Amino acid sequence: MESRSSISFDVDHLRMTRGIYIPAVDRIESVVVTTFDIRVRRPYAEPVMTEGEAHTVEHMLATGLRSQKSDRLIVLYFGPMGCMTGFYLLLAGEASNSEKADFIAAGAEAALAMEEVPARNARQCGNYGSLLDVQAVRPILEEIRDMARSISGRGAFDAYPSK
Ligand SMILES: [Zn+2]
Repeated sequence: MESRSSISFDVDHLRMTRGIYIPAVDRIESVVVTTFDIRVRRPYAEPVMTEGEAHTVEHMLATGLRSQKSDRLIVLYFGPMGCMTGFYLLLAGEASNSEKADFIAAGAEAALAMEEVPARNARQCGNYGSLLDVQAVRPILEEIRDMARSISGRGAFDAYPSK
C-alpha cells in the first residue's frame, strides 16, 4: 500500500463543493490513518465560518466523536481548517467507508444531543469567550451528520473535482 494517496493542496478549491473527502490514507507500520476533509463551506462561493462557529463545532464534535465506542476506529485529531471552510478529522484503524461514515454521523448525533458546549471554561480552553451557544452551530452539525449518513448509504466518500 502506498503511503499517501494525495495531498490537499493539489485540489482545485475553486470547483470544490461541500462534502466529506479523504485527502490521505497513511500507513505507519500496521496502523492505518485516514485523513478526512469535512468541507462545510464552498470556498470562494460562500462566506467562511466565523471564529465562534468553528471553535464551537470543534469543542462539540471533537467531544462527540471521542465519545464513540468502536473496536475498529479511534480519533487522533479533529479541528478547524485555517481557511475556515471546513474541518480535518484523523481516524486510526481499518474499517469500511460505511463504517467510517457511520462513526462520523454518530459523533455528530452525539454533539447535537448536547445542551452545553463542552469545556467552556478558562481552565480547559485557551479562548472560551469566543464559544457560541449550541443552537448557533446546530445547522453545521446537522449538515455534517446528514452528509455522513448519505455517504454511509452509498458506501463512498465524496470525490474531489478532477483537474
Ligand atoms: Zn477552545
